[in-house]
Amino acid sequence: MKKLFSYNFLSRIIFLLLTPVFFQYFALGFVWHSIYWGVITTVVLIWGMFILISPIFGRIGCGWFCFMGATSDLSSQHSLIKIKWRKPKVWTRLLLLIPFFASAITFYFINKERGITNNFAILPSFLKADFNIHYKYVWVIDITCSLLFGLLLERRWACKNLCVMGALCSVGAKYSRLITVVDTNKCTLCGQCEKNCLVRIPITDYIKNNQGLVTNSECILCGKCIESCKFDAIKLKFVWNRKKYKQSIIERDKEFEVIN
Ligand code: SF4
Ligand code: SF4
Ligand code: SF4
Repeated sequence: MKKLFSYNFLSRIIFLLLTPVFFQYFALGFVWHSIYWGVITTVVLIWGMFILISPIFGRIGCGWFCFMGATSDLSSQHSLIKIKWRKPKVWTRLLLLIPFFASAITFYFINKERGITNNFAILPSFLKADFNIHYKYVWVIDITCSLLFGLLLERRWACKNLCVMGALCSVGAKYSRLITVVDTNKCTLCGQCEKNCLVRIPITDYIKNNQGLVTNSECILCGKCIESCKFDAIKLKFVWNRKKYKQSIIERDKEFEVIN
Protein backbone atom coordinates (compact mmCIF):
# COMPACT_ATOMS: atom_id res chain seq x y z
CA MET A 1 0.00 0.00 0.00
CA LYS A 2 2.93 2.36 0.75
CA LYS A 3 3.91 2.26 -2.91
CA LEU A 4 0.43 3.21 -4.12
CA PHE A 5 1.40 6.81 -4.80
CA SER A 6 4.38 5.67 -6.93
CA TYR A 7 1.99 3.65 -9.11
CA ASN A 8 -0.40 6.58 -9.16
CA PHE A 9 2.40 8.90 -10.28
CA LEU A 10 3.44 6.46 -13.00
CA SER A 11 -0.13 6.18 -14.26
CA ARG A 12 -0.51 9.97 -14.44
CA ILE A 13 2.80 10.39 -16.29
CA ILE A 14 1.86 7.70 -18.82
CA PHE A 15 -1.53 9.30 -19.57
CA LEU A 16 0.02 12.77 -19.62
CA LEU A 17 2.55 11.67 -22.24
CA LEU A 18 -0.12 9.86 -24.23
CA THR A 19 -2.49 12.82 -24.45
CA PRO A 20 -0.87 14.66 -27.40
CA VAL A 21 -1.39 11.46 -29.42
CA PHE A 22 -4.77 10.41 -28.05
CA PHE A 23 -6.10 13.88 -27.23
CA GLN A 24 -9.49 13.34 -28.81
CA TYR A 25 -9.94 10.16 -26.73
CA PHE A 26 -8.83 11.61 -23.37
CA ALA A 27 -9.72 15.32 -23.28
CA LEU A 28 -13.04 15.75 -21.57
CA GLY A 29 -13.87 18.87 -23.63
CA PHE A 30 -14.58 16.57 -26.56
CA VAL A 31 -17.62 15.22 -24.73
CA TRP A 32 -19.22 18.50 -25.82
CA HIS A 33 -18.27 17.93 -29.48
CA SER A 34 -19.59 14.36 -29.30
CA ILE A 35 -23.02 15.55 -28.11
CA TYR A 36 -22.90 18.30 -30.75
CA TRP A 37 -22.52 15.72 -33.53
CA GLY A 38 -24.72 13.10 -31.87
CA VAL A 39 -21.94 10.52 -31.61
CA ILE A 40 -20.86 8.23 -28.81
CA THR A 41 -17.10 8.50 -29.08
CA THR A 42 -14.23 7.00 -27.07
CA VAL A 43 -14.02 10.06 -24.83
CA VAL A 44 -17.74 9.75 -23.99
CA LEU A 45 -17.30 6.04 -23.23
CA ILE A 46 -14.23 6.68 -21.04
CA TRP A 47 -15.69 9.57 -19.01
CA GLY A 48 -19.15 7.94 -18.96
CA MET A 49 -17.50 4.89 -17.39
CA PHE A 50 -15.68 7.01 -14.78
CA ILE A 51 -18.97 8.72 -13.85
CA LEU A 52 -20.82 5.38 -13.68
CA ILE A 53 -18.23 3.69 -11.47
CA SER A 54 -17.82 6.68 -9.14
CA PRO A 55 -20.35 5.33 -6.56
CA ILE A 56 -17.96 2.38 -6.10
CA PHE A 57 -14.51 3.61 -7.11
CA GLY A 58 -14.90 7.32 -6.30
CA ARG A 59 -12.77 9.83 -8.23
CA ILE A 60 -10.41 7.25 -9.71
CA GLY A 61 -10.59 8.93 -13.15
CA CYS A 62 -9.54 12.27 -11.66
CA GLY A 63 -6.70 10.79 -9.65
CA TRP A 64 -5.27 8.19 -12.02
CA PHE A 65 -6.20 9.22 -15.55
CA CYS A 66 -6.88 12.92 -16.16
CA PHE A 67 -3.93 14.80 -17.66
CA MET A 68 -5.26 18.15 -16.43
CA GLY A 69 -5.50 16.98 -12.84
CA ALA A 70 -1.99 15.50 -13.11
CA THR A 71 -0.53 18.76 -14.47
CA SER A 72 -2.27 20.81 -11.84
CA ASP A 73 -0.93 18.53 -9.06
CA LEU A 74 2.63 18.77 -10.39
CA SER A 75 2.61 22.57 -10.26
CA SER A 76 0.45 23.02 -7.15
CA GLN A 77 3.16 21.44 -5.00
CA HIS A 78 4.97 24.75 -5.60
CA SER A 79 1.85 26.88 -5.32
CA LEU A 80 2.52 30.50 -4.49
CA ILE A 81 -0.30 30.61 -1.98
CA LYS A 82 -1.04 28.12 0.75
CA ILE A 83 -4.74 28.03 1.39
CA LYS A 84 -6.25 25.45 3.68
CA TRP A 85 -9.16 23.29 2.58
CA ARG A 86 -12.17 25.09 1.14
CA LYS A 87 -15.33 23.39 0.04
CA PRO A 88 -16.04 23.36 -3.72
CA LYS A 89 -18.40 26.06 -4.88
CA VAL A 90 -21.54 24.35 -6.17
CA TRP A 91 -22.75 27.46 -8.00
CA THR A 92 -19.62 27.75 -10.19
CA ARG A 93 -19.96 24.08 -11.09
CA LEU A 94 -23.63 24.53 -12.01
CA LEU A 95 -22.79 27.69 -13.90
CA LEU A 96 -20.63 25.61 -16.21
CA LEU A 97 -22.54 22.33 -16.09
CA ILE A 98 -25.81 23.82 -17.33
CA PRO A 99 -24.45 25.80 -20.34
CA PHE A 100 -22.07 22.92 -21.21
CA PHE A 101 -24.88 20.43 -21.73
CA ALA A 102 -27.57 22.92 -22.75
CA SER A 103 -25.44 24.37 -25.58
CA ALA A 104 -24.25 20.97 -26.81
CA ILE A 105 -27.81 19.56 -26.81
CA THR A 106 -29.15 22.71 -28.54
CA PHE A 107 -26.57 22.36 -31.32
CA TYR A 108 -27.41 18.67 -31.56
CA PHE A 109 -31.06 19.53 -32.30
CA ILE A 110 -30.03 22.26 -34.76
CA ASN A 111 -27.84 19.71 -36.54
CA LYS A 112 -30.69 17.20 -36.44
CA GLU A 113 -32.98 19.73 -38.15
CA ARG A 114 -30.32 20.17 -40.82
CA GLY A 115 -30.04 16.39 -41.15
CA ILE A 116 -26.34 16.20 -40.24
CA THR A 117 -26.37 14.41 -36.87
CA ASN A 118 -25.54 10.75 -36.35
CA ASN A 119 -28.48 9.98 -34.04
CA PHE A 120 -26.17 8.83 -31.27
CA ALA A 121 -24.39 6.13 -33.20
CA ILE A 122 -21.38 4.54 -31.51
CA LEU A 123 -18.40 5.76 -33.56
CA PRO A 124 -15.33 5.61 -31.26
CA SER A 125 -12.93 7.23 -33.75
CA PHE A 126 -15.33 9.83 -35.14
CA LEU A 127 -13.48 12.82 -33.69
CA LYS A 128 -10.16 11.60 -35.05
CA ALA A 129 -11.63 11.67 -38.53
CA ASP A 130 -13.28 15.04 -38.17
CA PHE A 131 -10.92 17.13 -36.12
CA ASN A 132 -7.71 18.35 -37.62
CA ILE A 133 -4.29 18.94 -36.11
CA HIS A 134 -5.02 22.38 -34.70
CA TYR A 135 -6.80 20.71 -31.77
CA LYS A 136 -3.32 19.77 -30.53
CA TYR A 137 -3.01 23.46 -29.61
CA VAL A 138 -6.03 23.05 -27.38
CA TRP A 139 -3.94 20.51 -25.48
CA VAL A 140 -1.20 23.12 -25.00
CA ILE A 141 -3.79 25.63 -23.76
CA ASP A 142 -5.27 23.04 -21.36
CA ILE A 143 -1.83 22.15 -20.00
CA THR A 144 -0.85 25.84 -19.60
CA CYS A 145 -4.10 26.68 -17.78
CA SER A 146 -3.67 23.67 -15.47
CA LEU A 147 -0.07 24.70 -14.70
CA LEU A 148 -1.11 28.28 -13.96
CA PHE A 149 -4.13 27.28 -11.87
CA GLY A 150 -1.88 24.94 -9.90
CA LEU A 151 0.77 27.60 -9.35
CA LEU A 152 -1.47 30.53 -8.57
CA LEU A 153 -4.46 29.09 -6.75
CA GLU A 154 -5.22 26.61 -3.99
CA ARG A 155 -4.60 22.93 -4.76
CA ARG A 156 -7.02 21.54 -7.35
CA TRP A 157 -9.00 24.79 -7.38
CA ALA A 158 -10.13 24.33 -10.99
CA CYS A 159 -11.06 20.68 -10.33
CA LYS A 160 -13.09 21.70 -7.30
CA ASN A 161 -14.85 24.69 -8.79
CA LEU A 162 -14.87 24.59 -12.59
CA CYS A 163 -14.67 21.11 -14.05
CA VAL A 164 -17.88 19.64 -15.44
CA MET A 165 -16.64 16.02 -15.29
CA GLY A 166 -15.29 16.62 -11.80
CA ALA A 167 -18.72 17.83 -10.70
CA LEU A 168 -20.43 14.74 -12.13
CA CYS A 169 -17.86 12.33 -10.68
CA SER A 170 -18.07 13.99 -7.26
CA VAL A 171 -21.83 13.30 -7.08
CA GLY A 172 -21.21 9.55 -7.35
CA ALA A 173 -18.06 9.74 -5.21
CA LYS A 174 -20.19 10.87 -2.25
CA TYR A 175 -21.29 7.23 -2.02
CA SER A 176 -17.94 5.69 -2.98
CA ARG A 177 -17.19 2.30 -1.45
CA LEU A 178 -13.45 2.64 -2.06
CA ILE A 179 -12.38 5.01 0.72
CA THR A 180 -9.23 6.35 2.33
CA VAL A 181 -9.37 4.88 5.81
CA VAL A 182 -7.28 5.88 8.83
CA ASP A 183 -6.68 3.41 11.64
CA THR A 184 -7.44 5.63 14.64
CA ASN A 185 -5.50 3.23 16.89
CA LYS A 186 -2.26 3.83 15.02
CA CYS A 187 -2.75 7.54 14.25
CA THR A 188 -0.91 10.12 16.40
CA LEU A 189 -2.69 13.11 14.79
CA CYS A 190 0.64 14.48 13.54
CA GLY A 191 -1.14 16.07 10.54
CA GLN A 192 1.48 15.05 7.99
CA CYS A 193 -1.08 13.34 5.71
CA GLU A 194 -3.28 16.44 5.65
CA LYS A 195 -0.31 18.68 4.87
CA ASN A 196 0.70 16.54 1.90
CA CYS A 197 -2.78 15.69 0.56
CA LEU A 198 -2.92 16.73 -3.09
CA VAL A 199 -6.38 18.23 -2.54
CA ARG A 200 -5.71 19.53 1.00
CA ILE A 201 -8.59 17.53 2.45
CA PRO A 202 -8.85 18.09 6.23
CA ILE A 203 -8.02 14.45 6.99
CA THR A 204 -7.57 15.02 10.75
CA ASP A 205 -11.20 16.19 11.02
CA TYR A 206 -12.27 12.83 9.62
CA ILE A 207 -9.96 11.05 12.05
CA LYS A 208 -11.45 12.90 15.02
CA ASN A 209 -15.10 13.01 13.94
CA ASN A 210 -15.71 10.22 11.44
CA GLN A 211 -13.89 7.21 12.93
CA GLY A 212 -11.12 7.67 10.35
CA LEU A 213 -13.27 7.34 7.22
CA VAL A 214 -12.21 10.08 4.80
CA THR A 215 -15.58 10.29 3.08
CA ASN A 216 -14.79 13.40 1.10
CA SER A 217 -16.07 13.38 -2.48
CA GLU A 218 -13.01 15.41 -3.59
CA CYS A 219 -10.60 12.62 -2.60
CA ILE A 220 -8.85 11.41 -5.76
CA LEU A 221 -7.56 8.16 -4.22
CA CYS A 222 -3.99 9.07 -5.09
CA GLY A 223 -2.30 7.48 -2.09
CA LYS A 224 -0.13 10.51 -1.22
CA CYS A 225 -1.44 10.48 2.38
CA ILE A 226 -0.56 6.78 2.66
CA GLU A 227 3.00 7.52 1.59
CA SER A 228 3.21 10.44 4.06
CA CYS A 229 2.16 8.51 7.16
CA LYS A 230 5.13 7.22 9.14
CA PHE A 231 2.86 5.12 11.31
CA ASP A 232 1.34 3.11 8.50
CA ALA A 233 -2.10 4.19 9.67
CA ILE A 234 -3.74 4.86 6.29
CA LYS A 235 -5.09 2.47 3.71
CA LEU A 236 -7.44 2.48 0.75
CA LYS A 237 -10.21 0.07 1.57
CA PHE A 238 -13.55 -1.08 0.28
CA VAL A 239 -16.07 -0.14 2.95
CA TRP A 240 -19.44 -1.47 1.82
CA ASN A 241 -21.41 -0.31 4.86
CA ARG A 242 -20.08 2.94 6.34
CA LYS A 243 -22.50 2.95 9.27
CA LYS A 244 -21.55 -0.59 10.27
CA TYR A 245 -17.84 0.19 9.96
CA LYS A 246 -18.11 3.29 12.15
CA GLN A 247 -20.16 1.38 14.74
CA SER A 248 -17.50 -1.35 14.87
CA ILE A 249 -14.79 1.28 15.54
CA ILE A 250 -16.91 2.92 18.29
CA GLU A 251 -17.43 -0.47 19.94
CA ARG A 252 -13.72 -1.35 19.61
CA ASP A 253 -12.76 1.96 21.28
CA LYS A 254 -15.27 1.37 24.11
CA GLU A 255 -13.84 -2.10 24.77
CA PHE A 256 -10.35 -0.60 24.79
CA GLU A 257 -11.43 2.02 27.36
CA VAL A 258 -12.96 -0.67 29.61
CA ILE A 259 -9.78 -2.79 29.48
CA ASN A 260 -7.65 0.22 30.41
S1 SF4 B 1 -11.94 17.45 -11.85
FE1 SF4 B 1 -11.82 17.59 -14.09
S2 SF4 B 1 -9.82 18.46 -14.56
FE2 SF4 B 1 -9.79 17.78 -12.43
S3 SF4 B 1 -8.96 15.74 -12.55
FE3 SF4 B 1 -11.18 15.51 -12.58
S4 SF4 B 1 -11.74 15.47 -14.73
FE4 SF4 B 1 -9.65 16.26 -14.60
S1 SF4 C 1 0.14 11.08 8.96
FE1 SF4 C 1 -0.58 9.20 9.94
S2 SF4 C 1 -0.28 9.55 12.10
FE2 SF4 C 1 -0.16 11.57 11.12
S3 SF4 C 1 -2.27 12.37 11.22
FE3 SF4 C 1 -2.07 11.30 9.28
S4 SF4 C 1 -2.79 9.24 9.71
FE4 SF4 C 1 -2.37 10.18 11.66
S1 SF4 D 1 -7.01 12.01 1.18
FE1 SF4 D 1 -5.18 10.87 0.52
S2 SF4 D 1 -5.87 9.68 -1.23
FE2 SF4 D 1 -7.39 11.32 -0.91
S3 SF4 D 1 -6.69 12.99 -2.18
FE3 SF4 D 1 -5.79 13.33 -0.18
S4 SF4 D 1 -3.77 12.39 -0.34
FE4 SF4 D 1 -4.97 11.59 -2.04
